[in-house]
Amino acid sequence: MGKRISILGSTGSIGTQTLDVIRDLNRDLDNRFAVVALAAGSNVDLLASQVKEFKPHLISIKKVQELQSQPQDEHHIDLLWKKLGKPSNVEILSGEDGLREAATLPEADIVINALVGAVGLEPTLAAIKAGKDVGLANKESLVIGGHLVREELAGSSAQVIPIDSEHSAIYQLLRGTDPKGVARIILTASGGALRNRELEELDRVTPGEVLNHPNWHMGSRITVDSATLVNKGFEVIEAHWLFGMPYDKIEVLVHPQSIVHGLVEFKDGTIASSLSYPDMRLPIQYALTYPERAKSSYPKLDLRGIELLFDKVDHKRYPAFKLVVEAGKVGGTLPAAMNAADEVLVERFLTEEIPFTAIAQGLREVFNGHKLVQEPAGEEIREADRRAREYVKHFGIKNG
Ligand code: MG
Repeated sequence: MGKRISILGSTGSIGTQTLDVIRDLNRDLDNRFAVVALAAGSNVDLLASQVKEFKPHLISIKKVQELQSQPQDEHHIDLLWKKLGKPSNVEILSGEDGLREAATLPEADIVINALVGAVGLEPTLAAIKAGKDVGLANKESLVIGGHLVREELAGSSAQVIPIDSEHSAIYQLLRGTDPKGVARIILTASGGALRNRELEELDRVTPGEVLNHPNWHMGSRITVDSATLVNKGFEVIEAHWLFGMPYDKIEVLVHPQSIVHGLVEFKDGTIASSLSYPDMRLPIQYALTYPERAKSSYPKLDLRGIELLFDKVDHKRYPAFKLVVEAGKVGGTLPAAMNAADEVLVERFLTEEIPFTAIAQGLREVFNGHKLVQEPAGEEIREADRRAREYVKHFGIKNG
């Protein structure tokens, strides 16, 4: 067992946990997991310390011109060189070129795509085209470009191994089963931080309350997306493309304990499920060691005394969920528009420009007003993304 790994998005939540898992695996397995490339955003300090520890040959950072309010294009590259003391065996690139290089590096066996946002799609496609397995944590790759990913996979020996607790669970449950025997798959949703709040109070909740997720510690957008169940809507779309499963065979149940991550129901009525404590290091480790398994030092689930509850989705509480799943069924550019709109709406909620309930209202307007393009190419996806962002930037309901 052992792999050479390229990590895109190394300074984010999944990126840093991936490096934690690699460090743990290497302690038991004689350093057989090597990091060959790291790509990150603008956290130069953290990236520099990752480079010093893991010694990749290739580093890519976000282009400064992609960041606002930075005067010089090469500023971060210079900064990084300075921090690293100009080693001779390292190449530093930036922007989309850097991501592409990191995604297709000849010596990499697997690319962990932990990028956040639509920028993650192109590197996923490039990695598959180059025959690399992809540990996929970037949701947008499948949400906005699922048809493109499927197309690329059809002509490739590469595999996409999901790094998301629900999809990793289903992926593991489906391995070695006959797809004809599967009746449906079930994804679980925690229900987020507002699961028990009175419906009338939802337009008055603060960002702080929403960000206080009971089970998972994640980035702020996905935590808000858990409270609206928008995240689960996107996960249904991801499951559709990842498992080639029709939408009417994908169900979602609210399961507040986040212990059962996914279930597969077979034709004969048998249900198989995957259980563990909520810990992203498990799906990350599975993707890294796939198809093998390695020991882990993470807390093992003790089932004694644990109560597991399941409930159907309450569409009054989570109106955005149905909208996002519908967007997936319509397909084309609509999921890209919904994803872009949600990103802006969540940001505006977090800065207290709009109330929590306006996220679903904004999404409904984008859904209703969208000019659909089916089977979109990259440029059409980017255009749908841009328009939706522009639209909800001005979508306004006064807070308070
Ligand atoms: Mg998930």
